Amino acid sequence: MTEDIQQIAEPSSIVRRIWSPSDADADLIRRAYDVALEAHKDQGRYSGRPYVHHVIETAIILADLGMDTKSIVAGLLHDTIEDGHLTAEGVADTFDEEVLFLVQGVTKLGHVRYQGLERHIESLRKLFVATSQDIRVLIIKLADRLHNMRTLEHVPERKQGRIASETLEVYAPIAKRLGIGRLYTELQDLAFPFVYPDEYEEVKQLSDEKYDQALNVIKRLRKKLIVELDDDKQIKDPTVDYRLKHLFSLYLKLKKKDMDIDQIYDIVAMRVIVENVEECYRVLGIVHGLWRPRPDRMKDYIASPKPNGYQSLHTTIFTGDGNMAEVQIRSEKMHHEAEYGVASHVRYKEKDAGGTRKLAWFEKFLNTVRSSDIAQDREIDNVPNWIKEMAAEQQDTTDPSKFMENLQTDFFEDRIFVFTPNGDVIDLPVGSCPIDFAYYIHSQLGDHISGARINQKFSSIDTELESGDIVEIITDKKNHPKRKWLDYAQTALAQGRIQRGIRQQNEGN
Ligand code: MN
Repeated sequence: MTEDIQQIAEPSSIVRRIWSPSDADADLIRRAYDVALEAHKDQGRYSGRPYVHHVIETAIILADLGMDTKSIVAGLLHDTIEDGHLTAEGVADTFDEEVLFLVQGVTKLGHVRYQGLERHIESLRKLFVATSQDIRVLIIKLADRLHNMRTLEHVPERKQGRIASETLEVYAPIAKRLGIGRLYTELQDLAFPFVYPDEYEEVKQLSDEKYDQALNVIKRLRKKLIVELDDDKQIKDPTVDYRLKHLFSLYLKLKKKDMDIDQIYDIVAMRVIVENVEECYRVLGIVHGLWRPRPDRMKDYIASPKPNGYQSLHTTIFTGDGNMAEVQIRSEKMHHEAEYGVASHVRYKEKDAGGTRKLAWFEKFLNTVRSSDIAQDREIDNVPNWIKEMAAEQQDTTDPSKFMENLQTDFFEDRIFVFTPNGDVIDLPVGSCPIDFAYYIHSQLGDHISGARINQKFSSIDTELESGDIVEIITDKKNHPKRKWLDYAQTALAQGRIQRGIRQQNEGN
């Protein structure tokens, strides 16, 4: 194995990937590298490579995501306590409490082995609770999983299916929810052939057949658009490119379209990247001037970002020769955020204490967290509210099936953003009504709700809220929770509080 060690990446290959590393950064990474090398010296991987290769690759993924130095160090050390026989004190002494916290967080999550539903859910629960204290723990875990997926072919066949299913059902959706496009698309595509081998073959074949044709269409459009953009003096340095839809996302879309690939217009999409938001809309105007858009397929994710923060303009156009094509327009910043999501926030935060480069949507999350109940009894750092909320619920939930239910309704479903009259953003699951909103803000507000003004219009307390609504709660001290509210409320939080309110009234009587 000593010979093999010579072939693994040097610490400099990690340091090189960090944006303007300081001497202290480089030194810390070298030290972690040496500790990992020593801790794993007698271990190997299924691939036959030294085990340390895995932790180095994990660290490289984290560096490429733009994560901070402590995360990269923790990536190098993430298996040392569990598998490398290092002690917690050892890690704290050689590094610091922060690194130890990250390593232990990742270790605690274990390998989320699928050993029956109960065990699995227990692991998931740990995942959320551990993460609610520092989102970096989850990102390190995702990087660890990504490298395990990249080397899944070497793992014994009997284990592959379980690892791949877990990736598709747990890890990829989390990466997606965190807005890290780079991670979730690769995780999905790596897992796809192991989980659905037949479907994978079918989709692969369909896409191979269609790809060349779609690409030719896009190349023609691209030429024409570039000429037009060059003429426009107000748009500086646009990048006109294209992207191929990744296979798993193509599969999901095909399933909705009876596996008819001719119904899919974005197998190859043109992508225009410009400097700022104004230019995005300007390009959209130019595109619509050149080709007629399908009015039903224009999506403005700049004005209404997706719940995970994704922003872009999408439009589907008639190409004039019987084809249709999708064009995606975004700024450089939006593009970066689509690729790196929460990970880009971690880095910005470290480099720019002033916070001027903080993601706008993350700011909203933080504001939400600050105004919530949970914020009062917990250190708030860089954790989106929906994760905090999940973690708070999970700590009181002992019933695993209930947990799974919450996970599916609260976590994997899309969320809406609504506003308080002061402009604070509240993040709720789709289908929520003013009752959910009121309990979210304060239990007193929920308990005495009598009505609501939505966008200044009087509305009933069971009205389904939509993203962008401004919600004001009207209360009446004489009002108390009623059983029928349970039918209206969508969130676990409101359900629990209503039940508690009803119980208290019964006891009072
Ligand atoms: Mn690992």
